Amino acid sequence: MAHDVVLIPGDGIGPEITSAMRRVVDASGVDIAWNVVDAGAGVMDEFGTPLPEHVLDAIRSTKVAIKGPITTPVGTGFRSVNVALRREFDLYSCVRPCLSMPGDGSRYTDIDLVIVRENTEDLYAGIEFDEGAPEVAELSQLIEASGQKTFKPDSAISVKPISVSGSRRIVEYAFEYARRCGRHKVTAVHKANIMKASDGLFLRVAREVAERYPDIEFNDKIVDATCMGLVQDPYAFDVLVLPNLYGDIVSDLAAGLVGGLGMAPGANIGRDIAIFEATHGSAPDIAGKDIANPTAEILSACMMLDHLGEGAAATRIREAVKKTLAAGESVTGDVRRAQTGSAEGCVGTQAFADAVIANL
Ligand code: NAD
Repeated sequence: MAHDVVLIPGDGIGPEITSAMRRVVDASGVDIAWNVVDAGAGVMDEFGTPLPEHVLDAIRSTKVAIKGPITTPVGTGFRSVNVALRREFDLYSCVRPCLSMPGDGSRYTDIDLVIVRENTEDLYAGIEFDEGAPEVAELSQLIEASGQKTFKPDSAISVKPISVSGSRRIVEYAFEYARRCGRHKVTAVHKANIMKASDGLFLRVAREVAERYPDIEFNDKIVDATCMGLVQDPYAFDVLVLPNLYGDIVSDLAAGLVGGLGMAPGANIGRDIAIFEATHGSAPDIAGKDIANPTAEILSACMMLDHLGEGAAATRIREAVKKTLAAGESVTGDVRRAQTGSAEGCVGTQAFADAVIANL
């Protein structure tokens, strides 16, 4: 029986990389009934919202979706559709494996680490007050009344909530993932030396959870030192569990260890719904030119196939991607440039997908 999957092509490079991904998945022989629905700025005029109700209903019904990136206006305009989807379905866990593949163009080899990012809280919660909003003055009074030095009156405020329950479930997820996938160590990343309340809570809960997993090594590290450590000795890390914002930033850093954003897949997992998407954004600088690297999206589809119980097909696709990259003849410009300093001789998005299909 076919697997029902919602496909949101997204915008920017989204339609190109999702079409390449879909062709590869279909060529693997897995029977997927794709329900293609649109979200983002392109549907605003028609539906008055970038995330129409029928898109949410479709995902509620299939429980599995894969999406291309969706542009979020910077500074003003609508809030992130990506963040809204994670919050709507309580997709609290963002899993981003970073695995080296020969020919990926990275300076590093044999990287094998996994970012587990909390996906619903922190500065991403969307609780914000613009400069001049009456709440800013009220907050200032509240802070003064608590005996703390308040902020400048012309401030804008973003609130950083981190809860015991939210921290516990993401750290538990990281440990369960480590056990299930035969990993040996979990590192909790924080800035608890400065944000003693919010990050301090995250660290305290992480330590409590770690005690229940004596078979898995545990340590914690401050986020700035983690960034330096990842660049200097990434082999010292295995599974990293982080609050939302640090997870976002460190994910891109980790993508840079395995050839760049075009190589880094991801999954947003909740209790009963999962949405798969690459780590990267809509890359407007290269959109519509058939030059984006679809590997991250194809590898995200592999994570989806694992989730759907189609692990054999996922493995075949991963091997075909590896073979294509290792052969080095049909690689996209980002990979070729990283390898040789020039994109000369690279192939386009769809030609890369054709090469992967030929290697299936
Ligand atoms: P980005 O990830 O889109 O691009 C950063 C750089 O990486 C660019 O130079 C881009 O060309 C390159 N790049 C990204 N993906 C690539 C690929 N597959 N192949 C080759 N090169 C690739 O980050 P940005 O430019 O900061 O963000 C653009 C938009 O995407 C913003 O509106 C942002 O909010 C949005 N965004 C969406 C998601 C999502 O949909 N989940 C995630 C991150 C950013």
